[in-house]
Amino acid sequence: MRKSIALVAHDAKKDDLVAWARAHEVDLAGHNLYGTGTTGGRIRDETALEITPLKSGPLGGDAQLGAMIAEGRLDALIFFVDPLSAMPHDVDIKSLIRLAILYDTPLAVNEATATGILPGLSAD
Ligand code: PGA
Repeated sequence: MRKSIALVAHDAKKDDLVAWARAHEVDLAGHNLYGTGTTGGRIRDETALEITPLKSGPLGGDAQLGAMIAEGRLDALIFFVDPLSAMPHDVDIKSLIRLAILYDTPLAVNEATATGILPGLSAD
């Protein structure tokens, strides 16, 4: 079944997420993809995937994804987090992760977990 999956990466992790999306292009192409502004733009430009870009994370993109989770419109969140930098929009990031936990939304915050959950998302 087609799922709605969000792809987000902090700046230091964007290259890794683009490479991961390329490596899993066939699987990801079967889903409706959403991304925060800069991440989504890079995936659109550097892969063959179609993706709906939202606002940039610091400008409300993370909050938009949180709203999608609260409204039951997002099935999974793949969020390559930078663990070494402070973010001006830390409160939005915490809120997004909190909502993913609250609504039991599959959440991958690193590459190994993203690779682990992708087959399950594509299976049903
Ligand atoms: P960006 O947002 O894709 O617009 O850079 C990601 C984030 O920092 O949350």
